[in-house]
Amino acid sequence: MPTKTSAALPQDFGHPHLLEDYTPVPQPTITTKICAVCHASAPHTLCSKCRNIRYCSTSCQELDWKLHKVVCKHYIEATAQTRCPSSRRVLYFHPLASKPTFTDIPFGPDGTVYGLSEHLFPGVPDADIKRLSFHDRFLPYFIQLAYDTNPDKKRELEENRSLGRPFRGPVVALAYDAETGLSAPALDVDTTIMRPLMQYVELRREYDGPIFVEQPQKRYTKGEWKAIMGDDAGCV
Ligand SMILES: [Zn+2]
Ligand SMILES: [Zn+2]
Repeated sequence: MPTKTSAALPQDFGHPHLLEDYTPVPQPTITTKICAVCHASAPHTLCSKCRNIRYCSTSCQELDWKLHKVVCKHYIEATAQTRCPSSRRVLYFHPLASKPTFTDIPFGPDGTVYGLSEHLFPGVPDADIKRLSFHDRFLPYFIQLAYDTNPDKKRELEENRSLGRPFRGPVVALAYDAETGLSAPALDVDTTIMRPLMQYVELRREYDGPIFVEQPQKRYTKGEWKAIMGDDAGCV
């Protein structure tokens, strides 16, 4: 909890020991069982419908339902379909649809995406599709958003109905393994993408520059801070 003292403490990121809020978390893996909302351990509780997302408690589940219900049922349908081995599941935000849909696109073994412009951005040259990557440190993958930059404003693009500003036209969310990155096919997107994705879009709405995303952390008390910093506590 922020205290008067900690609010006055230096926040200069140029001095690593001054990142007093920072608690490193291990890179999660696909099998890490943490709550999608608060990131506490959640070994037993899966969404009973899709069995794809974990919560530590019913209160976290209720808090997330508004977002999760958008994709829960559709995820069950999408995962029940037979698919081609080279395909990967992405989340497609059609500009006029009120909800995103899971859809499959083909990838080459070297990570080349084949289906993006043909199926999801009809009539958009590859060079106009920007792919913007970001990482939430509680996820075992990084997220990439593909969208039409429409550089010469040649196309009349509607504001994307399910994502809102600043996105216009279709948007595709992809997930990539943090280690192999773009040199291998994407991973299958699942329902865990919704919360970090919507949080990121919310940030983009406010600010159009580079974003340093940090999760809220426990703040040290005055005593804890003094124990760590010794006589330097409070010095800039
Ligand atoms: Zn939780
Ligand atoms: Zn579900």
